[in-house]
Parts: sequence; C-alpha cells; structure tokens
Amino acid sequence: MARDSMPPAMLMAGPAGVGKRLTAVAVAQAINCLQPVSTAEFERDACGECTSCRRIARGVHPDVIVVEPGDSGSIKIEQLRDVIDRSQYRPFEGRRRVVIIDEADAAGADAQSALLKTLEEPPSASVFILVSSVPDALLPTVLSRCPRLRFGPLTPAEVAGALVKEHGYSETEARAAAADADGSIGQALQSQSDDLTEARDAARRVLEETARNTDPVRRIGLARDLTEGKGTPAEERNRLAVRLRSLGALLRDVGIIASRGDRAMLANADLERQLEKLSDSYDAGRSVRAYAAVDRALTALDRNASPKLVADWLLLEL
Ligand SMILES: [Zn+2]
Repeated sequence: MARDSMPPAMLMAGPAGVGKRLTAVAVAQAINCLQPVSTAEFERDACGECTSCRRIARGVHPDVIVVEPGDSGSIKIEQLRDVIDRSQYRPFEGRRRVVIIDEADAAGADAQSALLKTLEEPPSASVFILVSSVPDALLPTVLSRCPRLRFGPLTPAEVAGALVKEHGYSETEARAAAADADGSIGQALQSQSDDLTEARDAARRVLEETARNTDPVRRIGLARDLTEGKGTPAEERNRLAVRLRSLGALLRDVGIIASRGDRAMLANADLERQLEKLSDSYDAGRSVRAYAAVDRALTALDRNASPKLVADWLLLEL
C-alpha cells in the first residue's frame, strides 16, 4: 500500500474467525483514508476517524463493496456480475475501488468463472480481495490469479485480549472462552452464545420448578441443574456464574411484569409468556428477594466459595 504496488487481486485465506474480513476492510480504509498516518508497524495506515474511514467501517462508502453469501448461503452469479460491472467505472470519490468478496468459496463454479477475466485484468482503479476459510473450495484458475495472504490461528492471549477489548468480557471470562476457541475469536463468540442459550434454559427450568415446589430435598436436587457439566474447576465456576447471571436476568424480568413495569425493559422479551406465568408465583416481593439472593451467590462465587455450596444455598433461598 505504501509503495502503491498492491496486487490488484488477492486472496486472504486462513481459519474462520481470526480477522480476515476485518483486515480486508482495514486495507480498504488504508487505501482510501483522507488523512493516512504512519505508524511503527505500517508506513501507510488509516486514521480511522475521517469521513472516508468511518463510512467504510459502516459499510456505506460508495467505492468499497462487500459481497457476501445471502440467505441462501451462496454467492449468486448476479451479485458478482453486478460488482464486475461497477468495477469498470472510475471510483466515485475514493482513490481506488475495493471489492471484498467474503466467503468467496460460497460462489459456485459458474459464478467464480464469471470473475476470472476480471481477476486476470482488473480495472486499474479497482482492487479485488477474496476472503476464504476454505480456499481449496475455490477453482484452481481463481487461486492461480490471486496471490495468497495466509492467516494463522491467534494465540489464546490474543483471543482473550480481543474479547476484553472489543466485546466487553471480563478477564476471567475471556481466558476461559479463549482456552477453548482454537485461536478463533469467532469461535469463542459463538460458543459464548451457545453457552448463554444453554444457561438461560437451565435457569428457566430451575425457576419453573421452584415456583411450585418448596420441598427442600427436591430443591437441593435442582441445584444440580445449575452446576451440572464437566470441566476444570475454573470452567465449572465460570459456567455456574453464567447460569446465575441468566437466572438474575429472568428474575429481574419477572419482577418487572409482577410490578406492572415497562415491558420494553424486558431483557428476555421473547419469553414474555413464560415470564408472565412465573409472575403468578414470583410476585414483586419474592422476585426482588430472589434476585438479591442470586446477587449474593455471585459475590460468594467470586470470593471462591464452592460452586456446589453456592448452588445448594441459593436453591433454598429462591
Ligand atoms: Zn481516515
């Protein structure tokens, strides 16, 4: 970029979720930034703040086009014909038009073939960046026309750092998530959202049982629903914390419904009907007391109390 000798077509290849597309967008910004900066690492880098950089980040710059699979999961030949047409013209306002084809392997053979001629002799003012985590699925003729920039997996520390900095994780959560993510931020975020769904289901089952069941033995049995699962002690602690936070969020919602509060504030709006049913047993007073108990349980967990003891205690307080 600094020497203005970027190949007009290239392939960014490597594992999913390590930042290939982000890098492609960063390249588009560096090319078209109105006030490029020099850093220790890069002779030419984007400022990140000018109107051009901001519009590229928001996906609304007229000269930076991102093609990606639609609902069908594939990239259609029409999508590629459209960008090929547009790439024949001078950029509207940028220095060079950048066409990013994300998950390029999702284009069928005919669609890829449609690109070949353009990749061979790209219009001088355009740059084509193909992004793929399964580059072997691309046609050999496409591969041979695109110099490959290889991406590797990130280190666990890099994944954890990004989760803290960009996604609001605590240090502990980030390290636990990164340990199991194969060097991919995308995978860490995905497993987090799977965990959250699972945690909310477990929390809801517990609340539905405690709503109608006061037998202490039965309740201690329910505590297992909160602690169940395998893993290292740190993972067990982390998993219980995630489930307790889900439980707290559900109780807060039930409290809103029980006290006829503003339903626009519900965190679990998709469960409104089930929450309403819970509010028959969890009236305003009980849901507030239960929420406070969950809060105390989380504090105890933070102070290294045993997950099993915390769950047993909490189940008797709900
Ligand atoms: Zn800029």
